[in-house]
Amino acid sequence: MTAQPHSKYPHLFTPLDLGFTQLKNRALMGSMHTGLEEVEGGFERLAAYFAERARGGVGMMITGGISPNEEGGMGSEMSTPKHAQEHRQVTEAVHGVDPNIKICMQILHAGPLAHTPKLVGPSAVRSRLSKLVPNALDEAGVQKQINDHVQCAKMAKLAGYDGVEIIGSAGYLLSTFLVEKTNQREDQWGGNYENRMRFPLEIMRRCRAEVGPNFILIFRIAAMDMLQGGMSWDEVVLLAKEMEKAGATIISTHFTWHESAVPTIATMVPRAAFSGVTGRLRKELNIPCITSNRINMPDVAETVLASGEADIVSMARPMLADAELVKKAFEGREDEINTCIACNQACLDHSFEGKEVSCLVNPRACHETVLNYEPSQAPKKIAVVGAGPAGLAYATVAAERGHSVSLFDVGIEIGGQFNLAKQVPGKEEFYETLRYYARMLEVNQVNLHLNTRVSANDLQQGGYDHVVVATGITPRVPDIEGIDHSKVVSYIDVIRGNVEVGKIVAVMGAGGIGFDVTELIMHSGVSAAMDKEVFAREWGVDFKNHPRGGVTGVVPHIVVAERQVYLLQRKSTPVGRGLGKTTGWTHRMSLAKRGVQMINGVEYHRIDDQGLHISIDGQPQVLEVDTVIVCAGQTPARGLFDELAGSGIATSLIGGAFEAAELDAKAAIKQASYLAAAV
Ligand code: FAD
Ligand code: NAP
Ligand code: SF4
Repeated sequence: MTAQPHSKYPHLFTPLDLGFTQLKNRALMGSMHTGLEEVEGGFERLAAYFAERARGGVGMMITGGISPNEEGGMGSEMSTPKHAQEHRQVTEAVHGVDPNIKICMQILHAGPLAHTPKLVGPSAVRSRLSKLVPNALDEAGVQKQINDHVQCAKMAKLAGYDGVEIIGSAGYLLSTFLVEKTNQREDQWGGNYENRMRFPLEIMRRCRAEVGPNFILIFRIAAMDMLQGGMSWDEVVLLAKEMEKAGATIISTHFTWHESAVPTIATMVPRAAFSGVTGRLRKELNIPCITSNRINMPDVAETVLASGEADIVSMARPMLADAELVKKAFEGREDEINTCIACNQACLDHSFEGKEVSCLVNPRACHETVLNYEPSQAPKKIAVVGAGPAGLAYATVAAERGHSVSLFDVGIEIGGQFNLAKQVPGKEEFYETLRYYARMLEVNQVNLHLNTRVSANDLQQGGYDHVVVATGITPRVPDIEGIDHSKVVSYIDVIRGNVEVGKIVAVMGAGGIGFDVTELIMHSGVSAAMDKEVFAREWGVDFKNHPRGGVTGVVPHIVVAERQVYLLQRKSTPVGRGLGKTTGWTHRMSLAKRGVQMINGVEYHRIDDQGLHISIDGQPQVLEVDTVIVCAGQTPARGLFDELAGSGIATSLIGGAFEAAELDAKAAIKQASYLAAAV
């Protein structure tokens, strides 16, 4: 008897026959480096992390990148039976949940991006992202790299993996053989395209010969590498077809090199922006194709699959944000999905900074053995004041654990500052976090009281065992002559649309909020995050004609508001230096493309009818602006906490109210979750 198709997601929940084995559904957790392999007890933590996602219903998972040798230098290596033994903890944990769930190991040889002086490449061409020049491989060196990949695949099989994914994109070793910029060889491994393809194809052929027919081999291809002069469409298709002949089971499409100047996973990228490219490639092949990038909810996955753009949908960060994404979709509980907002703040930024990876909206990610929400043995009556991210996280976790929680906010809706953030073009995903929390308050039966300002007296009368003050921040008002001039406005009023913003504007303070407000006031028309064509136009991508790399010769075009904006800071460091490691450049580029003048080393003197009087490098000048928007940071709003001191009620202070400087939603949610797990 054939199973009935799923009523809402028939494509997502249709198994996929790979010939020698089957995937139970079309949902894949794509590869993400967690850094856990390198920490003490890391394999135990990795096992718990993957097992939790296996229980969450995913069909197949790919591990973070593992190097085949020392030269591949990304930290963890798989080349010996001892390495294989360590990884058995992971494969056994996953197959222990369900033997039908596949887990494949990604083989990642970083090539010119490796963090080791032993780094290698086809030629001695330094990546723009590295300080080191790779050692050009000689013939013996090339053969060694191939052998090491084969050995790595063999050891992955010994470790119990169902397959391996070989990464041939992103500027890592295999991809650097493919393009002329990084492959300047004149032997059989360089020169014409046939020669340049030889290295990755030889790896695939020899891996297949080693592991036999019943082992999944995925090749990750740069289907659109976003490089000026990158791979042409014909080259992409030829490589994929040759990979199929060489023994690949599946082709996985990737859309960038790390050094490319087009954002491909940041929150400003529209959902499923690149799956059309996978769809075109899929038509050329006889093996299944995986698509990826900004597919973060089951309806997006289903649409991609139903339209024939892919056979499998990769959702990597979305499964950090919610390990049960697939299960919740299957059970019709989509409104309970904690959606990845593509901020990169706790995942990719941490990975690139060498910190442990987690997730802004889910601090349990990669901490499954560390942070757990166990039922409370002594349920308490708790009041949480402030329904911003900190208060919401605390209330939901505490209530999930069985405490009786009342949540108060003076506003008419939950969310605190997220209600401002969600209005910034490119931050539309923040609506999802608010939808998630609204639902979780219901599921966990939190007593929500909006439009309610509570006093210390109310709390004392309320008979609470514990009060949590999550009252957020107060915007800082700099002590500058003329700060009360009519042309000075606060970022809050600008975002809420309470004030008119003039044609010539100074934004005072270039932190995250200064950038966001500038983006907002320079914006015109549809947000690029909501429209693939606008995104393509703004970032100079031609999806239709696919010139080399998708970008060669394409001139970006942006429609901007008619406005002249100065974004100012006092520090002498480059403006925007403090923004996220992996997304800061996108914000800086976006404003630069809009003609915003970003000025550092500014000293503010006064504001008057003429404008803003400043000095830059000691040179006085006047910016003749109509509006000065103050984005000069924030201070904790902790009045209520101070009033409660000495009341005898156990009180905690969290989020911006605890610490405003450098406090972001990642820190607020993390702090709240840990405290609520312990109360
Ligand atoms: P808040 O969000 O400020 O919430 C405090 C709540 O307490 C408010 O709802 C308020 O109404 C309520 N309240 C105050 N006093 C009382 C009282 N006496 N009684 C009842 N209720 C009260 N962070 C990031 O990590 N990433 C981003 O991309 C990002 N973008 C941002 C963009 C903008 C435009 C803004 C403004 C902020 C952004 N932030 C971002 C910062 C992030 O929103 C804050 O760090 C986070 O909201 C702090 O959470 P919180 O719960 O401590 O405080
Ligand atoms: P912020 O990042 O601390 O920036 C405040 C800015 O104001 C700084 O550029 C500072 O730089 C300036 N400033 C501080 N004191 C001043 C004074 N007295 N007079 C004039 N200028 C002064 O704070 P924010 O922009 O308000 O953001 C608040 C929090 O939200 C931060 O933690 C931020 O990370 C987070 N957030 C994150 C994002 C994101 O995309 N990740 C977006 C928005 C907000 P100078 O002193 O050099 O001028
Ligand atoms: Fe997604 Fe941000 Fe979490 Fe990373 S930190 S998984 S981008 S929500």
